[in-house]
Amino acid sequence: MAQLQISRDGQHYGSYDEEDVRHYLQQNQILLTDQYWTEGMEDWQPCSALIPPPIPTATPSRARGSHVCPSCGVSGSPVSHTPGSMAVELVLWLFFIVPGLIYSCWRLCARRNVCPACKNPMIPSNTPLGQNLLK
Ligand SMILES: [Zn+2]
Repeated sequence: MAQLQISRDGQHYGSYDEEDVRHYLQQNQILLTDQYWTEGMEDWQPCSALIPPPIPTATPSRARGSHVCPSCGVSGSPVSHTPGSMAVELVLWLFFIVPGLIYSCWRLCARRNVCPACKNPMIPSNTPLGQNLLK
């Protein structure tokens, strides 16, 4: 359990257990505008940072990621994948401007978001098909 130091108006208090600080925050014994510091932190931070953001209840629990992979079932954020090779592109540009241009266009056009696990295209998980895959 991290030991926090609290600072208010230049006065330092503590150390307190992180759990205790949250408790004091709820009782307004420590204010959200007070600052806290713990070992490993570079600077003092406002205590408001200790309050976890409310969990949005409207989000369905199934939607773990923004996209789902139909090939391997991985859900998450797709990664950008550019086909072809940067080296080929460079050589074409150096020696043949026009093929280089075409090659660059093709790479850009064919760039798509793919599954980080199997490199297949992912589909948005908020579509009916995506919801089915997440079941
Ligand atoms: Zn996949």
